[in-house]
Amino acid sequence: MSSIEGKIKEKLPTLQVDMIGEELVVYPQNPGEVSSFIEFCNDEKISIIPVGSGTQIAKADQAGVYLSTRKMNKIVELAEADLTVSVEAGITIKELAEVLKEYNFLLPVSYHEKPNSTIGSLLARDAGGIEQYARGTINDYLLGLEFITPTGELIKTGGKTVKNVTGYDFTRLFAKSWGTLGVITKATFKLIPMPVEKALFITHGTSIDELTWQMKEVLAKRYSLMTFIGISNKLLGLDEGSRCGGVFVLAGSKQAVTHQLEVLKSLLDIKQIIIGTNSVDAYLEGLLGSRNSQGDIILGTDRRTLLNDLPRELDAILKDNISMEILIDGGQGLVQLVAMTNAQEIKKILKDRLKELKCSFSDDRAPVDILYNRLKRNLDPNGIMYPNNPRFVEVS
Ligand SMILES: Cc1cc2nc3c(=O)[nH]c(=O)nc-3n(C[C@H](O)[C@H](O)[C@H](O)COP(=O)(O)OP(=O)(O)OC[C@H]3O[C@@H](n4cnc5c(N)ncnc54)[C@H](O)[C@@H]3O)c2cc1C
Repeated sequence: MSSIEGKIKEKLPTLQVDMIGEELVVYPQNPGEVSSFIEFCNDEKISIIPVGSGTQIAKADQAGVYLSTRKMNKIVELAEADLTVSVEAGITIKELAEVLKEYNFLLPVSYHEKPNSTIGSLLARDAGGIEQYARGTINDYLLGLEFITPTGELIKTGGKTVKNVTGYDFTRLFAKSWGTLGVITKATFKLIPMPVEKALFITHGTSIDELTWQMKEVLAKRYSLMTFIGISNKLLGLDEGSRCGGVFVLAGSKQAVTHQLEVLKSLLDIKQIIIGTNSVDAYLEGLLGSRNSQGDIILGTDRRTLLNDLPRELDAILKDNISMEILIDGGQGLVQLVAMTNAQEIKKILKDRLKELKCSFSDDRAPVDILYNRLKRNLDPNGIMYPNNPRFVEVS
């Protein structure tokens, strides 16, 4: 038993402690336990990394102790008349989606890619997902937050109602702070009614340029398009004849979706159609959830660049790197390149070629400014809450 583990057991005997490999993880069951643990860590000058399922924490992020919210995973209140739900931070996005489905409600952040992501972590990283252009990010649905500060105080911001204006928007400041300004313990969201019908269709293409042309055709119709993904043949399970395929998802009333599909059938060479919310969700989870790599290179851009300027550049790069796989997520403006062996070399080529375009790489770090430094030092005087979070580059 490590000395930290021994001290925790002595001072906080009811707190659940576990060793995962060489990492010490505590599992508080309620906000009171989170608070007491943070106070203990301040006294002992032990650093904490707040986590949910812990899937995004790199080895390099080593903390004194990981604090997992995974045992705080209940739905606290589902207010049907208000279309709101309050949940503990450790519930996963899929667990929540499944309960909401029974009531025909939706928190429109897709779970297909990473079903084990906890709500607290999705707030911390301001997750959007494959429906982001259509629906926004998880924080667009956030009404109220409960969190514990780096010195152990429990704070509640916002509320349970849609109209909630009380001074500064602390709710979003703390919600999106990547675990550096405290631990989210509870959140209240507004919900939307579940769309009655969903349809997914697949097209084929010989180049990225052709595929993005198809996307532009569908977008020009102003249809209820929720998601569009361009994906290379191996990832989509196509034969060698087509370089890539397009996956489009429509959602809305039965009548609207049926009509839109009929029109699109006459416009595009549609190879496969899947109809029905459950079948579409299952297909997307199989397609996206099975990919254990997030892609070696992740590029973010705006939709105009994604659809107009980027495709030809990507086609040129792919021509020279035939083993490379690609996923274009037009629903949130992301390109993922699975470069297999020479990722760094390809990233350098991409950076040179894309200099003139509006693109950023997901591992680019913006230097944090004077406001961050002031805020962090005031709220976290002992610097225990996720110090050296790799997202933030401190400037002195
Ligand atoms: C639909 C969807 C959209 C996504 N979009 C994005 C995106 O736009 N940008 C992006 O970066 N990632 C995005 N992701 C990835 C997503 O952030 C991770 O899949 C998810 O955070 C992993 O969950 P986890 O519980 O394992 O997180 P963890 O690895 O446990 O934590 C991830 C981060 O959240 C912090 N955190 C976790 N819980 C808390 C808490 N209770 N209080 C305070 N901080 C906490 C951690 O400190 C860490 O910084 C998306 C995922 C999905 C499913």
